[in-house]
Amino acid sequence: MIKILEKRVADKIAAGEVVDRPLSVVKELVENAIDAGATSIICEIQKGGKSYIRVTDNGHRISSEQVETAFLRHATSKIAEAEDLDHIGTLGFRGEALASIAAVSGVEMITRTGEEKVGAKLVVEGGQIVAKEPTGCEEGTTIIVQDLFYNTPARLKFMKSDATESTLIVDFFSRMALAYPHIKMRMINNRNILFSTRGDGDRWRTILTVGGANAKDELLPVNGEDGDRKLMGYISPPGESRASRRNQIFFVNGRTVTNKTMEKALDGAYKERLFHQGRYPIAYLFLEVAPETLDVNIHPNKREVRFHDDVSVAEFIKSTVEEALKTKEAMPRIQEKSSKVSRLWKLQEESRKAENIGLDEDSISRRETGEVSKAGEQVDVKQILSTFREENQRIAEEAGKYQASPPPKANVPFRFEDLTVLGVLFSTYIMLRDEDTFYLVDQHAAHERIYFEKIMDSYRSGDAPKQEIMVPITFDVPFFSDEWKEALERFGFSIREFGPQTYAAHGIPIFMDLSGGEKFILDFMDGIGEDTDFESEDVVTAIAQRACKQAVKAGDELSSQEAEQLIRDLSQCRNPFSCPHGRPTFIRMTRQEMERKFKRT
Ligand code: ADP
Ligand code: MG
Repeated sequence: MIKILEKRVADKIAAGEVVDRPLSVVKELVENAIDAGATSIICEIQKGGKSYIRVTDNGHRISSEQVETAFLRHATSKIAEAEDLDHIGTLGFRGEALASIAAVSGVEMITRTGEEKVGAKLVVEGGQIVAKEPTGCEEGTTIIVQDLFYNTPARLKFMKSDATESTLIVDFFSRMALAYPHIKMRMINNRNILFSTRGDGDRWRTILTVGGANAKDELLPVNGEDGDRKLMGYISPPGESRASRRNQIFFVNGRTVTNKTMEKALDGAYKERLFHQGRYPIAYLFLEVAPETLDVNIHPNKREVRFHDDVSVAEFIKSTVEEALKTKEAMPRIQEKSSKVSRLWKLQEESRKAENIGLDEDSISRRETGEVSKAGEQVDVKQILSTFREENQRIAEEAGKYQASPPPKANVPFRFEDLTVLGVLFSTYIMLRDEDTFYLVDQHAAHERIYFEKIMDSYRSGDAPKQEIMVPITFDVPFFSDEWKEALERFGFSIREFGPQTYAAHGIPIFMDLSGGEKFILDFMDGIGEDTDFESEDVVTAIAQRACKQAVKAGDELSSQEAEQLIRDLSQCRNPFSCPHGRPTFIRMTRQEMERKFKRT
């Protein structure tokens, strides 16, 4: 029998599409607050948001006669006509969120606009309005969502642990705080204030505030512009990395997104710069593109975006990040990270539990704590305040001592032209200087890099310059395919059959010596198989990487002319700052760091 579903059943099903876990409730409520023009948003959760979610904002949109309307499906103040869909300026527009949330939880909404004297409080349970009364309240809106999915057991079971659900929410709210540095955002989890941003538009400080341990390393600024595109943000130097992508936070036109194109572009920029395989740089990237070049709706929760011009967006990101990685600041320091920054970080990290820099006590207004108590929660305001006071004092003292940490400045790119070779240390390290920095270059790493790029260039160009050798290098192989021969020739060898199961190289790449040529062929034969795909960039790279391991051993004595030539060759490389396996070629120490070490300043 076919039946029309009862409205409440249909609503629950539809709700499942919008609200599938506590995170989606928080996301909808926070987006509504932003759409309402809020300049302050408080998000409080308990038990991973399963038992309690509160979002309080100071935006101005709902008037008391419209409170009920907001909870109707397809009730939205954001679009009226179908044409409006083409130029949506708000985060929400479907008019489904409040209705969906209300269908599967207990909702309390308290709201007042600037023109009204009193506010309205509406209580909705399982989609039914159970109470509406006038109430005294501040301007803005508070929505409290309790006992999520109490009436949908299947969804209830589907939720993960409190810790998992709260991590998702805190991550999301942190991203929003970063995307909207002009909005004060406070995150409270199980009555601990995790962070409060100042809402003063200072993106760097916001990163410090919400980034905590993720951002405690010195980050490098990224800045680039190309027509309509703009990229800014902060990335970790290649010496720092993380085990997952959790610390890569991308924004496109203000929205926090996940995007494979951006991930790959970032990976590309760090290629051969990260020493450990399977590690990821930290990145906070804010990309602006023309809205018409972007699809934002390919995923219902709008976290995924697609660029119409993937390839050129990727290229733009990659080259902008690469520029940032070519600066002196991206090179590892001879002296470990300056302690002043890390100490401050540590302090901030500790105090994050209570509050962050610049907390004014008034901002923990009576209104806020009052609301918490209204919802039946006991908050020891006195204790929180005294913790804040202590923490603030400590931070202020430390900050005074160390002038706080200013945002990393846009850095002057490193220039090979400015270098002077000073000599060679321990037959291994070339000493160099420019105006304000002393460098050591690992001659082995440098040589590997040069050798690697030459090999790769030969292979790519396909017509590598060769040199004839008097006595050919012979090698015995039971099987030798045409593809292998062709590949060796592209690497710069001339190969011919020399006898049954014997081949000979009578030409080798111009930049190799005889023993280098022999080692290359041996390595090559060791590393390949019948199904080796020489079209694959990774395969070719791996062959070249293996080959250049033996380039120059540390300990080979270089004359000063040879050292200078090595630096000149290195300067011609596309990626002169690491060996092909990701070890650094350069380490540095600034004059200022030396002066500090010698206590001259
Ligand atoms: P949408 O955001 O897609 O319009 P919602 O169901 O999320 O739909 O909200 C419905 C309507 O309720 C919104 O269009 C807006 O007018 C109003 N509203 C919801 N939350 C708030 C808020 N925090 N402040 C002001 N108005 C709000
Ligand atoms: Mg909405």
